[in-house]
Amino acid sequence: MKRFLHLGMKAAVLFSMSCLWGGCGGRSPEHTDYRYTDTAMGTVIQQTVYCASEGEAREVFREVTELLQELEKDLLSWRLETSEVYAVNAAAGEKEGAPLSEELAEILEQCLEVYQDSEGAFDITMGPAVRLWNIDAWAAGQQQGEYPLPDPETLGQTMENCGSGRIRLEREALRIFMPRGMQLDLGAVGKGLALGKLGELLDSRPELSGAVISLGGSILTWGGKPDGSSWKVGIVNPRDTSSNVGVLSLEGQWCISTSGDYERYVEVDGVRYHHILDPATGYPAASGVRGVTILSKEGLLSDALSTACFILGPEEGMALAEHYGAEALFVLENGELVVSEGMKGYFGG
Ligand code: AMP
Ligand code: MG
Repeated sequence: MKRFLHLGMKAAVLFSMSCLWGGCGGRSPEHTDYRYTDTAMGTVIQQTVYCASEGEAREVFREVTELLQELEKDLLSWRLETSEVYAVNAAAGEKEGAPLSEELAEILEQCLEVYQDSEGAFDITMGPAVRLWNIDAWAAGQQQGEYPLPDPETLGQTMENCGSGRIRLEREALRIFMPRGMQLDLGAVGKGLALGKLGELLDSRPELSGAVISLGGSILTWGGKPDGSSWKVGIVNPRDTSSNVGVLSLEGQWCISTSGDYERYVEVDGVRYHHILDPATGYPAASGVRGVTILSKEGLLSDALSTACFILGPEEGMALAEHYGAEALFVLENGELVVSEGMKGYFGG
């Protein structure tokens, strides 16, 4: 919470700085929009930046893609041997644990806080279950028919290796201890925390007046548009992803994360198995929700909460979002929308 307020203040300071750079609210009438689509972190990256020249835009696009690739390679990937998460996973069960960078220690501390506050729904140790379901193979598209479901006994055994309650994080000593078989999976927060870093990158580029960067289910809005109009962020209709259930109108810097049962899934015998697992069962969460969108100033939080709220459902999920000062919008299975009071101010049908 303290951190959240701190970043809120930072956003306020940046806002006044952007007044100095290019007219109040980041307005620079001579600026125009440049767009670029790429892939990184296993997802499609869409960037729109407002600046004076294509050369400036290209330079920013390159830096954004590079930052995301490095984040994956050096910090987050469970797959690449070069990453810190890989090294932590490889040391699971070692008596001396694994060393942590200050950065990863802080990320893990926040994840463990959300684990506690969500009563275990959000759990970064779901790695072994995510591997067993082979969720990462679903990323390329929606597999149909042939997919072999995990057998319940193997799933039960796999779930014994999950549970953030058994992580020991020594914050001061920068060490982590995990039991053998446990594996971190930061897939539920990686894109959100990347948004925070991208916000800092954009802050360091005075030639920009505004930007929107979309990383899969997480979006960053930053600065303002030359004409002073607000950012429009559509909230996808989970059962017709070519349409929206509504649009958020936002000013300045925000992180918007969505978790949905339409993002990655397989269908077997007419049943949809999606990628957000309930740690209480090891099966895809069945809380009556098809999609959750969280609005926050902080990327890691928006991403962690969207996953947690999807599992918790609208009642407990709404309480969790409120606890963190974030806004939430749930699309339920029956098509009903459950929208927090604060979110209503930004949301239009
Ligand atoms: P998101 O799309 O942000 O909701 O994140 C979903 C991803 O997080 C999945 O693809 C898994 O890699 C991972 N995951 C699945 N279930 C959980 C869970 N209960 N807690 C944390 N991460 C999870
Ligand atoms: Mg998430």
